[in-house]
Amino acid sequence: MTKEQIVRELYPEDVYRYADKLTQGEAEVLYEVRQIIEKEIRPVINEYWEKAEFPFEAFYKLADAGIMNSPKLFEGRDDKLKASQIYNAFLYYELASFDTSIATFYTVHGGLGYNTILLGGSEEQIEEFGTKVRNFEWQTCFALTEPDHGSDIAGGLATTAERKGDKWILNGEKRWIGGADSADIVPVFARDVEDGKIKCFIVRKGAPGYKADPVQQKISLRCVQNGHITMENVEVPDVDRLPNINGFKDVARILIHTRADVAHIATGVTGGAYKAALKYTTERDQFDRKVAGFQLVQEKLSRMLANTTTAISFSVRIAELMEAGEYEMFNSSLAKMSNSLRMRETVALARETCGGNGITLETDVARFFADAEAVYTYEGSHEVNALIVGREITGMGAFV
Ligand SMILES: Cc1cc2nc3c(=O)[nH]c(=O)nc-3n(C[C@H](O)[C@H](O)[C@H](O)COP(=O)(O)OP(=O)(O)OC[C@H]3O[C@@H](n4cnc5c(N)ncnc54)[C@H](O)[C@@H]3O)c2cc1C
Repeated sequence: MTKEQIVRELYPEDVYRYADKLTQGEAEVLYEVRQIIEKEIRPVINEYWEKAEFPFEAFYKLADAGIMNSPKLFEGRDDKLKASQIYNAFLYYELASFDTSIATFYTVHGGLGYNTILLGGSEEQIEEFGTKVRNFEWQTCFALTEPDHGSDIAGGLATTAERKGDKWILNGEKRWIGGADSADIVPVFARDVEDGKIKCFIVRKGAPGYKADPVQQKISLRCVQNGHITMENVEVPDVDRLPNINGFKDVARILIHTRADVAHIATGVTGGAYKAALKYTTERDQFDRKVAGFQLVQEKLSRMLANTTTAISFSVRIAELMEAGEYEMFNSSLAKMSNSLRMRETVALARETCGGNGITLETDVARFFADAEAVYTYEGSHEVNALIVGREITGMGAFV
């Protein structure tokens, strides 16, 4: 199939044809991703959502498509470590328009964790950890947030790291860390007791003193296990400290990328909810006609499509800016904030157009509706991203 045929088939809701910016190879990988989702993950996703477990076996089939390392993604590309930003945006769109937990699990591994290694690691660490993460041989995550410090983590981070010879001793707690209980390597951010700077340490699976208990009874992203980590005298050799993270400014360099990733997830959830609502309303009869034939329902479908188009536009433009190396935190925050607002409105509209069945897992929109709440808050809450934008446009910081 030609690229145009693939993207028309995959993304009929992309009415302004942004997906034409993908390369042939990128479109082919995304096509394979779709086949794996439909064959392997769709049949089990509701069951896993309900029992609050992650479908690891089905998810790892995505590795077969080479979503991080297929040679098709690197044809004619100088950067051999990371596929293009446009592909990245559409990969998140593809995953999140199917299921938010799948996209979130991926962003923790291939976004937050991988970017931490690329931006913070030495050449040897990028080779050792990065290769295994790209191949999905090792699962990684990102341990920044703490029970008592979420929005104020930059100044408040309380986990400590104390150097003893060629080792570091970590003590403290982390909360909400996606995939923390199953990860092979956990990048943990801790404050060096000597110079007060935030540094990053790779804690390996099974390290004595490390424990990750799942956050229980969630109503959002039920498939993803969010760990509450406790660390008591966890030893990390100095060779496993990422040398290029020496303060929150370096953490912020990672967050610029990952906030854009979450903006793309919000785009996917928006598009997914729209598609699920369109499917349901064009199949459901009331008053002897399709529900989608009513004017009031069409107004909602049109708003959902407009939100999807707006969000795709934000995602694609920020991807282009990032590819060109012209971006700042403000750009990512604006996209995350705006796309999440569009997402929240869309999942509610989608939910209501599906009536009573919209609160059951049968219609997909219930999952989008519940899961959108986590996306709205993680990777900087709506308010925090709005404050970053506000600081840029007024020149006045209003956080405290
Ligand atoms: C499902 C999920 C997955 C996550 N995954 C990870 C992960 O993998 N790794 C990780 O490190 N973290 C993760 N997080 C943490 C996430 O980034 C934080 O939840 C987020 O930063 C908000 O922090 P908080 O929950 O402590 O809320 P708080 O900071 O306590 O905020 C509570 C409310 O107060 C508002 N608020 C706070 N400060 C201000 C202010 N100055 N002005 C106006 N309003 C303000 C917030 O916007 C929010 O509405 C995850 C969270 C969730 C829910």
